Amino acid sequence: MLIVNAPSPNARPKYRGRLAPSPTGFLHLGHARTFWTAQARARLHGGELILRNDDLDSTRYKMEFVEAMREDMRWFGLEWSEGPDLSGPFAPYNQSERMDIYRAALETLRAGGFIYPCTCSRRDIQSAITAPHPENDEEPIYPGTCRKNLKAEIGNRKFSWRFRVPDGEVISFRDKHLGEQKFVAGMDFGDFVVWRGDDVPAYQLSCVVDDALMQITEVVRGEDLLISTARQILLYRALEKTPPKFFHCELMRDEHGERLAKRHEALSLRTLRARGESAAELRAGW
Ligand code: GLU
Ligand code: ZN
Repeated sequence: MLIVNAPSPNARPKYRGRLAPSPTGFLHLGHARTFWTAQARARLHGGELILRNDDLDSTRYKMEFVEAMREDMRWFGLEWSEGPDLSGPFAPYNQSERMDIYRAALETLRAGGFIYPCTCSRRDIQSAITAPHPENDEEPIYPGTCRKNLKAEIGNRKFSWRFRVPDGEVISFRDKHLGEQKFVAGMDFGDFVVWRGDDVPAYQLSCVVDDALMQITEVVRGEDLLISTARQILLYRALEKTPPKFFHCELMRDEHGERLAKRHEALSLRTLRARGESAAELRAGW
């Protein structure tokens, strides 16, 4: 039997991109520019763009921002074809509804010997650090204190699960925008948390699990996440998944050269819109 529309075995998967805001504040112009690039890339490739709500961090996340985010994104001209509001083949699209999926991934990492329970507080880490703080990344290199910990020895102390990075290995990838990137595990970044002490999956893990399961072919994100991309490449390997392509965007800066953050209220999409700015005009200068 001839199946006319069957894809040929080496046909490229259709482009799938994603918008993955965290509802911790109002979106600002910097988010909008990254998202706009993500949308342009999806359209350029005739692909799909999905919306994922990264609402795992319940200590920082507020329900009111979820709706606001969507409203602001629509106002700006962003469109998606799958998401919490539309559903789709990879539902649910709210990370808070995907805990079982992350737990299963954690178990895979544990069974593979990739992670260890870490009982260090932020303070413990600060006082054990001898290596200089890495440039360009907020997180100090974890000094390895708990690397030999066994779960059975932890008792009922609070702990997080940390991924053991292969010290000295060069993690390289070709960024679609910034070109060749190289980071050395153990020097540019150290062992990182995949599951937090308050029983919440860390960003690195939930992001990799979802980008893989939702069959994302290219991740467009800010260049502040370049080192996280290197960490995530290690997680893809440990979970036996193929990493997507990456496109890191330059960050938008304010007039003092400081990168935009949610505290830059004057540049939030809400404020700009209330001032009567039009989305098309805001984009005109890019
Ligand atoms: N929710 C994450 C953030 O807003 C997503 C980052 C990413 O693109 O991976 O920072
Ligand atoms: Zn520790």
